[in-house]
Amino acid sequence: EYKNKKQTSVSLETLLDTGSGKLLYASRFPESKAEALGLTTHERTVMQIASFLRHELPVRLAHRASELRDLPHGLSASPSVQQVACWYEESFIDIINCPDIDSMDSADQIARTLQGIYSRHAETLVTIAQGLIEFRKQKIAEGEPLHKYKQVHTFLDDFFLHRIGMRMLIGQYLEIREPPREGYVGMVCTSTSAYQAIKEASDHARFMCERQFGDAPYVEIKGRTDLTFSYVPSHLYYMLFEVLKNSMRATVEHHATEDDPFPELPDVRVIISDGEDNEDVVIKVSDEGGGFPRSHMRRIFSYLYTTASGNTVTNSAELKDFGIEGPLAGLGYGLPISRAYARYFGGDLSLVPMEGWGTDAFLHLSRLKNHREPLP
Ligand code: ADP
Ligand code: MG
Repeated sequence: EYKNKKQTSVSLETLLDTGSGKLLYASRFPESKAEALGLTTHERTVMQIASFLRHELPVRLAHRASELRDLPHGLSASPSVQQVACWYEESFIDIINCPDIDSMDSADQIARTLQGIYSRHAETLVTIAQGLIEFRKQKIAEGEPLHKYKQVHTFLDDFFLHRIGMRMLIGQYLEIREPPREGYVGMVCTSTSAYQAIKEASDHARFMCERQFGDAPYVEIKGRTDLTFSYVPSHLYYMLFEVLKNSMRATVEHHATEDDPFPELPDVRVIISDGEDNEDVVIKVSDEGGGFPRSHMRRIFSYLYTTASGNTVTNSAELKDFGIEGPLAGLGYGLPISRAYARYFGGDLSLVPMEGWGTDAFLHLSRLKNHREPLP
């Protein structure tokens, strides 16, 4: 029943406006009733969002669960996919069992449920990755070319975009209930610093690169280092972290030789572009890691492709989406997931290789305006 209902996409402007109480006039909970109950504006905002989630999340969860149960090529039968499908079904039932939102008590109750759901699904990414690593091995062993699985890719692109959407809606609600943080509307920071995000991501990427190779290139940051804009800082961090890890690995692997395992490494250069009136904030990450052939472009964004070997994940429970405990590379997920994060807010991630020399990665981040969630 629920998987046949239509999902409602939300624009980011709506998300921000709802979060700051600007859309209360449209609330399903009339002002007269709110007044009778003595509710504050903040409480009314919380209830408005809770009520939307109570209605919307079961629809989205049902769509995902049924898609996971219907994957082609025997993927649905794999233990990892079944595990993830179970999580979606459990979460669906949890929300369906929450009462309609007609008081702060019911809003609190759904918040507790959502907290549980948020943690339940924390390892979706690595769990699916594990399933696909097995799928990939099996197909390679059978001599099947991986490009045959385009359908699987489209599914995964959509699936992860949806996942980002749901986590955004839930995270936003949980944050809104907390005492307001200066400069934030829920998860969105109205003065996200591109420089800070790059700095943090490069420190962590260097740590991982050094751990793996004994050395790591430095990162030079130029351009609008003073630029701040509205964004979700954790998303920005994640995308930069993935791109920087790739650049560092490529740089080390391209320059180190058997005779000289610790050569002088060229810097990874990051440029933040200008912007108050621009459509996008653009961040370019350039490395001298040897690039790759242009014909590999499709594979680069594939969930089934990595040129890293030996780093298979052994204990997914220890790996979280944003963790630095995992291997530097090896899941083959960094780029497609980062691109999904960028696209969720109307941006994009693209790579331009200069074979034999290096790669430029362009992160286009749209300024959060009236972009609707790109729900496939
Ligand atoms: P992973 O890093 O786990 O392999 P990614 O999605 O991050 O997965 O990258 C996929 C593949 O793309 C890498 O294995 C690598 O072969 C290639 N790649 C990505 N970034 C670069 C880069 N900056 N220079 C050269 N190759 C790259
Ligand atoms: Mg990577």
